[in-house]
Amino acid sequence: MTRSFEFTAGSPALNFIDTISARGRDPVELIVTPDDLSRWLNLAGFKQDFLIGLEQLQNARDVREAANDVLAAAVDLKALPESGVYTLNIWSAGQDFRPQLRNGDIVLVSERPFESVLAHISADALLMLRSDKVERLRRCTECGMLFFDQSRPGKRRWCSSSSGCGNRAKVRRHRERKRLEGNA
Ligand SMILES: [Zn+2]
Repeated sequence: MTRSFEFTAGSPALNFIDTISARGRDPVELIVTPDDLSRWLNLAGFKQDFLIGLEQLQNARDVREAANDVLAAAVDLKALPESGVYTLNIWSAGQDFRPQLRNGDIVLVSERPFESVLAHISADALLMLRSDKVERLRRCTECGMLFFDQSRPGKRRWCSSSSGCGNRAKVRRHRERKRLEGNA
């Protein structure tokens, strides 16, 4: 199943991680070409004029996988992978976005916009490790997608992407129950 980009994971870093969809079940790379990356950046609200080639694509994927490795380890209560932390630290240090108010819009400005986006995403991933955030970090029990649980009770088990994970789980449980009742 092809999926278009979704922005339902609850943070820029998590949304970026989600550009490999259904990591835990049936992974699909959604950012195959530099153009895909441009499209994602635009939809994610980064509206600068980026020059994106294969090198930028590779850097973006490196940051994305580092963020995934680190946050997945955090969800699993495992030691954080050193290489992932290193990558996020390096990129995050280059953050130089400056908010500017222009024609009523707040725009993030930088002389190195592409590097700044990766810095922004790296910083977002690192900040997700703060204790008040990380306790709300979840992995969807259906598709494996990482998401930030913003619900008030904080007991969400499924992502809210259009893959309909919560629904699928409920349908399966319903069928299970029927089957067990039938056998009784
Ligand atoms: Zn899911």
